[in-house]
Amino acid sequence: MSAPQRREQAVRAAVEQGIVGPDAPIAGLLDVTGIRASAAALRAAFGGVTPPGTPVLHAFAVKATPLVPVLRLLYEHAAIGAEVASPGELALARAAGVRPAHTVLDSPAKTPAELREALALGIAVNADNPQELARIDALAASAPTTSPIGLRVNPQIGGGSIGALSTATATSKFGVALRDPGAREWVVRTYLDRPWMTRLHTHSGSQGLPLELMARGVAAAYDLAEEINAAAGRQQIDTVDIGGGLPVNFTSDAEAPTYADYARLLKQHVPGLLDGRYGLVTEFGRSLLAKHGTVLARVEYAKRSGDRPIAVTHAGVQIATRTVYAPESWPLRIAAYDAKGLPKPGPPVAQDVAGPACFAGDLLAENRLLPLLDQGDYAAVLDTGAYYMAAHYAYNSLARAPIHGFTATPDEVRFSVVRPPQTLAEIVAESGGKHPDALLQDVL
Ligand SMILES: *Cc1c(COP(=O)(O)O)cnc(C)c1O
Repeated sequence: MSAPQRREQAVRAAVEQGIVGPDAPIAGLLDVTGIRASAAALRAAFGGVTPPGTPVLHAFAVKATPLVPVLRLLYEHAAIGAEVASPGELALARAAGVRPAHTVLDSPAKTPAELREALALGIAVNADNPQELARIDALAASAPTTSPIGLRVNPQIGGGSIGALSTATATSKFGVALRDPGAREWVVRTYLDRPWMTRLHTHSGSQGLPLELMARGVAAAYDLAEEINAAAGRQQIDTVDIGGGLPVNFTSDAEAPTYADYARLLKQHVPGLLDGRYGLVTEFGRSLLAKHGTVLARVEYAKRSGDRPIAVTHAGVQIATRTVYAPESWPLRIAAYDAKGLPKPGPPVAQDVAGPACFAGDLLAENRLLPLLDQGDYAAVLDTGAYYMAAHYAYNSLARAPIHGFTATPDEVRFSVVRPPQTLAEIVAESGGKHPDALLQDVL
């Protein structure tokens, strides 16, 4: 079955099996078959452009889908490790059983405690800046570590169409800005002074970046690695971490560009990086999971306002924060289903698909042409497997939606709980519920 066919099966089965319904008005659905296929495609793409035996670690960017069962699926099924950028993400990777050798710690704001833990575990660390490197110097001097250490550089090649996700602009907050006066010389000297630094890291950005620009960022990192190795007179840098950022097509079911497209482009632009002399680390996030997630939300009410039909659903800013606040940059496809979970027939009607939050802008789609949604129908929000369903936003104390994995055949759909719905007790607890009198103490 194709991915859209699996999705149709899953939506109908979710209604039939009560995964969604009057008392379960929203659920995230993850297509396990699709995730496995993307993981295999990633592996095959880089395997196809590197000589056999080239060490390649694919480290999934945990922030894209911070769910332990997802990390475990990627790790067990495709040996895809984890790129983590906070103590929470590291804890998730460890809970999923991802070994330190397959874990990479990035982030621009690592505390001394985080660094100490990573170095003690032997997790690869990419330093972001000179001050962080000084902390690593001190820690490594006091307790020897097996962690591979790298430095993140910003090749300053420019941004893509979404400013907030472009990390290789002239003034990006990430890494050492390579084209700033004196920076390149400082980087080379830094490696020569630290023979134990063996990695170089770059990540030029995410959604909205043309592939050519990404390849140029990787080429800049490769040129720098060659320069450092020449200056050192040996292969000091043995691994280049090329980051993630393959853009995702949010306009149809087509998966484009593919990992194979990107790997071929890298082979053209940076052949030396892929000739077997260097190990590789990649950090793809969105492109592994986005297309395999569907948020299914019940239409609680259907109404009209100023002649505009509005479907008030349970999917809004809490699961699609970027889309609600920046709809131009983050449009999402929506599919209409009836109360039985069957594709809704009928002519397209311009309507708003609204979320449950109490502000007027909580709209997943404005004036969207869809079969007219009615009370009790379902709106399916497509391509929400990364940065959406698992990246909850706690506005209005809305509960985190439950997430289910599924596998589908023409006659059966099997669901498994990935994350149960958040309970009211959990919401109260994380909202200071254990400290109701905290502000009633005498003020000094
Ligand atoms: C977010 C991020 C990634 C993943 O980016 P995607 O666009 O999800 O592939 C990889 N590396 C770093 C350092 C990141 O910050």
